[in-house]
Formats: sequence, structure tokens, C-alpha cells
Amino acid sequence: MPGKQRPPPVRFIAGAVCPRCGVMDRIVVSGDGATRRCVDCGFGDERPVEVPAPVATRVSRPAARRVETPADVVRLVDVADGAAEPDGSDE
Ligand SMILES: [Zn+2]
Repeated sequence: MPGKQRPPPVRFIAGAVCPRCGVMDRIVVSGDGATRRCVDCGFGDERPVEVPAPVATRVSRPAARRVETPADVVRLVDVADGAAEPDGSDE
């Protein structure tokens, strides 16, 4: 029976959300980066490639929804030129 079993060094992944319990900042990755684990509920699996897709935030969402609209020609009309306003001007 193995008496001493040192747990491998782990590191927390900032901002990672546990897929099971949904708690943030509870995911740790093993020293070799092969597995990830939730220290809260015990969830664990193989670690996906690097960091999972960034969580949608207020900053990232509008960019994903942005629609490029074509530029339109705007005509500027000079109201001082011509008989536009008959009130008050007696030059
Ligand atoms: Zn969890």
C-alpha cells in the first residue's frame, strides 16, 4: 500500500467556469496540463486545447453582432442660399 502519494502540482485557471456546477475560478489544471478538475464539485476530465473559448462579455458580444452597413451619400443643403426663411432678415 502506498503510504505517501504527493498530489501533482496544479494551477487555477482564472475565469474558467466549471461545466458541472457552474462556479467560476474553481478549475485547476494538473502540472502537465493533461487534465482539469473542479475543486468544488469534483468534476474532472481531459483538458481541452489550451484555454476554452472566451466567455461572452459585454465587450465581445456587440462585436459579434455588428453588421456592416454600406455608406450612403449625404447631400448638404445650404439654407442661407435662396428664399428659405423670410422672417427677420432685412439686409
Ligand atoms: Zn464544479
